[in-house]
Amino acid sequence: MQARRGGESLALCGMEKRPFSELGLTPDILKAVEKMGFEEASPIQTAVIPVALTGKDIVGMSSTGSGKTAAFAIPAIERVDPKIRAVQVLVLCPTRELAVQVAEETGKLAHFKRGVTGVPIYGGQSYERQFRALAGGVQVVIGTPGRVMDHMERGTLKLDQLKLVVLDETDRMLDMGFRDDIEHILKATPQTRQLMFFSATIPRMIQDLIGRYSKNPEWIKIESVAQNAPQVEQVWFEVDRRSKIEALTRLIDVNDFRYGIIFCSTKIMVDDLDEHLHSRGYLTDRLHGDITQAQRDRVMQKFRERKFEFLVATDVAARGLDVDDLEVVFNFDLPNDAEDYTHRIGRTGRAGRKGRAFTFVSGQELYKLQSMVRWAKLDVRRGKIPSLDEVDEARTSVFFEKIRATLEAKNFKPHDRMIDRLLDQGYASTDICSALIHLLQGTSAPGGGAIAKPGPVAKPAPVLTEKSVKPAPVWAKPVAAPKVSPAAAPAETPVGSETELERDREDDDGHPESGPRKSKYDRPARTGREPGYATVFLNVGRKQIVTPADIVGKIAGVTRLPATIVGAIDIHQRHTLVDVAEAEADFVVKKLAGIKLKGIALEPARAGNETKS
Ligand code: ADP
Ligand code: MG
Repeated sequence: MQARRGGESLALCGMEKRPFSELGLTPDILKAVEKMGFEEASPIQTAVIPVALTGKDIVGMSSTGSGKTAAFAIPAIERVDPKIRAVQVLVLCPTRELAVQVAEETGKLAHFKRGVTGVPIYGGQSYERQFRALAGGVQVVIGTPGRVMDHMERGTLKLDQLKLVVLDETDRMLDMGFRDDIEHILKATPQTRQLMFFSATIPRMIQDLIGRYSKNPEWIKIESVAQNAPQVEQVWFEVDRRSKIEALTRLIDVNDFRYGIIFCSTKIMVDDLDEHLHSRGYLTDRLHGDITQAQRDRVMQKFRERKFEFLVATDVAARGLDVDDLEVVFNFDLPNDAEDYTHRIGRTGRAGRKGRAFTFVSGQELYKLQSMVRWAKLDVRRGKIPSLDEVDEARTSVFFEKIRATLEAKNFKPHDRMIDRLLDQGYASTDICSALIHLLQGTSAPGGGAIAKPGPVAKPAPVLTEKSVKPAPVWAKPVAAPKVSPAAAPAETPVGSETELERDREDDDGHPESGPRKSKYDRPARTGREPGYATVFLNVGRKQIVTPADIVGKIAGVTRLPATIVGAIDIHQRHTLVDVAEAEADFVVKKLAGIKLKGIALEPARAGNETKS
C-alpha cells in the first residue's frame, strides 16, 4: 500500500501500520480496540487518526475493507465532550445498512467511554424512536442524508454544537443523488466544525464539495496494491508442510514459469529452499537479512537481468527490490497479514500483463488466510496441486512447442548422415525421433531448465534397461517405506531440513525390524537380492570417494523420500549399484538425473533385470 499526493495540499505517507497505542488515544479507546480484537491500526487508520485528532479537515481515500469506519469513528469519539448533551458528531452514509453498520462499530469503539452515546437515523424506521434518542441527548448521529434533513426541518435535530461532520462513501452518496441534501446539511453546520470526506474515488463533483466546504484539508490516500492489480490471478493451495517443495516444483513445471519470487517467512527457510531448488535443477538465488548489502545488490542486479529464474526471499529483504514484470509470486509461507500479502503479490501482473500469485497454506494457517481474505477483501480462489501426470503432460507440451518453434525457425544444424545411418539400419523415422526425445527428457533436470536449453545430446545416460520413466505417486502420502512410523515426521519440521533426514535415518535404526543394519548409513553391500527392491546404477564410485552416507543422504534429500527406501549399496571403482524400493525406483532415477554428487553430474539408470521379487 502506498500513500500518494493528491489534490492541492500535502499528502501523508500512510503506508505503515502502527500500534493503536502510538496514535495518541485515550485508554478507553485502547481498551475497546483490544476488545474488538484489532491488533494494530490499519494504514488508513494510522494516517488519519493523529491528523483527525488535531481538528484538521481530511480527505481520505482507501479501498473497501481497509478500516475507514474506525479511522473516523475513533477520533470522532475522542472529540466528544461527554458533559455536553448535544449532537457533536454527524456521520452521513449513503444507505441505512451502512448507517446501522457504522453505528454498531462506533458503539463498540465507545464501549468504555462513559457518557458518550450515538444513534443511527434512517428512513423506514419510526420517527418516534429517533425523536426519543435525539431528545435524550445523544452526541453522535449516524444517518442517511434524507432522514437527517427531515429531522433538521422538524427541529428534532440541532446542529449548532456540532464539532465534526463525516461524509462516508461520499462518491456513492453523490451517485445516489444526495448532492443537494449534503450541501443543505453542510450549510446548516457551524463554520468551526471539522469536516472529513471518505471516498474510494474523487470525481469532479467531490472536488467541488471539498473546495467549497473544507478548509485546507489534508489529503490521505492509501493505495491498495491488490485492489489495483485485478490482473493478478490469486490462488491458494492447502499443502502439507513437508510436501511444499514438491508442490512448488510441480506448479513451476506445469506453468513453465521462468521468472518469479518465492517468499518464505524465515532466513533458514530461504536458505533451505534455495538449496533444494538448486539441487533440483532450478536456477535460483536468495535474499535475506543476513546477506551483506553488497551481495544483495549483486543478487538484485542479476535478478533484474534475468540471470536466474527464481528469487527466494524474505519480505524484508525483498522490500527494496524494484522488479515488476514477474510471472509469478509464490507465498511459500503465508505472509503475516493482508498488508504483506498485497505487497508481495503487487510485484506481478504489472504493465498490463497477467500475473499469478500462488499461496501455500498448511494446517491452522487456513484460518489466518480466511481472515486476511475477509479483512482485505482478497479475491483468492482455491487451487489443486497438479498430479505428476499433469506435470508430465505439461512438460511434454512445452517440449512439443519448443521442437515446433525450432523447426519453424529452422534453428538447427542438419544431421543427415547420422539419421541416414539409422534409417539404413532399418529403424523407422518415428522410432528414431522417439529415442531422441526420450534421451533428451530422460537426462533433463526437472523444472524445464534442461529442456529449455536442450544442448548437445552428446552424453546420454548409460542406459542399462531403462523403462519408461513413470514415477510412483508420492504426492500427499510422502512415505512409501514400511519402516517409518507416521510420528517420525511432525508437521513443524521444515521441508528437507537436515533434521528430517537425520530423523529418517535415526528412525530406521531405532526400529528393531530394520534388520542387520548397525549404524545410520550401514547397508549391505550385495545388491539385487532383497525382494521388493530394484537396483539403480550411479556413475560415481570409489574414485570420487563416495560413501554409503553420501548415497543415502543424496537420495533421501533429493527425492524427499525416507532413507529407508535405500537398501544395499555396492560401491565400485567408477560406479555404484544401489538398491531402492521398487515402487520408487523410477522416481529416484528421474530425480537424481543431473544432480551433482562429489562434483559429478549423476546419470542414474535402472539395472532392471537384477530385481528379485
Ligand atoms: P471500509 O469502511 O474501509 O470498507 P470497514 O471500516 O468496514 O472498512 O472495516 C472492514 C472490517 O475490518 C470490519 O469488519 C472492521 O471491524 C475490521 N477492522 C477495522 N479496523 C481493523 C483493524 N485495525 N484490525 C483488524 N480489523 C479491523
Ligand atoms: Mg466503509
